[in-house]
Amino acid sequence: MAMRIVRSITSMRALAERWRRTRARVGLVPTMGALHAGHLALVAAARRASDRVVVSVFVNPSQFGPREDFARYPRTPAADARLLRRAGVDALFLPAVAAMDPPGGATVVEVGGSLTRGLCAPFRPGHFRGVATVVARLFAIIRPHAAWFGRKDAQQAAVLGRMARDLHFGIAVHTVPTVREPDGLARSSRNRALLPAQRAAAPVLHEALALAAAAVRGGARTRGAVLGPARRRLARVPGLRVQYLDLVDAATLAPASRPAGRLLLAAAIHLGRTRLIDNRAVRAPR
Ligand code: AMP
Repeated sequence: MAMRIVRSITSMRALAERWRRTRARVGLVPTMGALHAGHLALVAAARRASDRVVVSVFVNPSQFGPREDFARYPRTPAADARLLRRAGVDALFLPAVAAMDPPGGATVVEVGGSLTRGLCAPFRPGHFRGVATVVARLFAIIRPHAAWFGRKDAQQAAVLGRMARDLHFGIAVHTVPTVREPDGLARSSRNRALLPAQRAAAPVLHEALALAAAAVRGGARTRGAVLGPARRRLARVPGLRVQYLDLVDAATLAPASRPAGRLLLAAAIHLGRTRLIDNRAVRAPR
């Protein structure tokens, strides 16, 4: 069946409602467009588990800070539609900003606790509130059975899983492993903003996290022993700025005072004006 392109909230709600009435399992993949192989991995996972798949493309202004790249964020609507059609998506939902933000709107969804205390949160005030609020709206409009998110944005996936449970949405939140370029760089819409020299340097982010993971697996006993070599690796790259590099508990995302149990290594860097994030799960040896 041909993919529908749906712009109105009312039509999207009615379409999903019709599908649910035929007992179809509806899967949702929320994105900001400029689609790449990472997004398509989420679509493939949704496709396998659902009778109908909706992909939303919405560059959500409320999750960008005032000095962030909302205006510069890549927008490739024709290519996105082509990729999704080929991937067998049933509906592409393209709500307008004005329609998603009701006039006089005064409700936000704020996930509190340790999940939104560290990592990206202090550097992007309001970001996770913007993400949680828009995904709650997508959940309310589409009411899918399940939704898929990428582990590349591990903090976001954790926040949205918490939100879905806390608000009793009855929507299963699934995560998909990070899709990478052959040289290890995590696929990201922002990679296309990198200048050639920056692109050449960018895999160092993945390499530094791999170095830290190796230290954990090798039995490093302190945060310093885990993060030091990775930090030094990043410091060698001219023009690279580290925003954070952290070792946190994989479940709570609270900083791990020493390597123990299931952990997440996560980092954000700037290469010129482009901000890149990546992370890697690792388990400390007993
Ligand atoms: P975005 O369009 O960047 O907001 O991302 C939409 C969804 O795709 C989020 O759940 C991301 O975590 C996921 N995603 C983005 N890049 C990747 C990747 N390289 N591998 C897996 N999932 C990804």
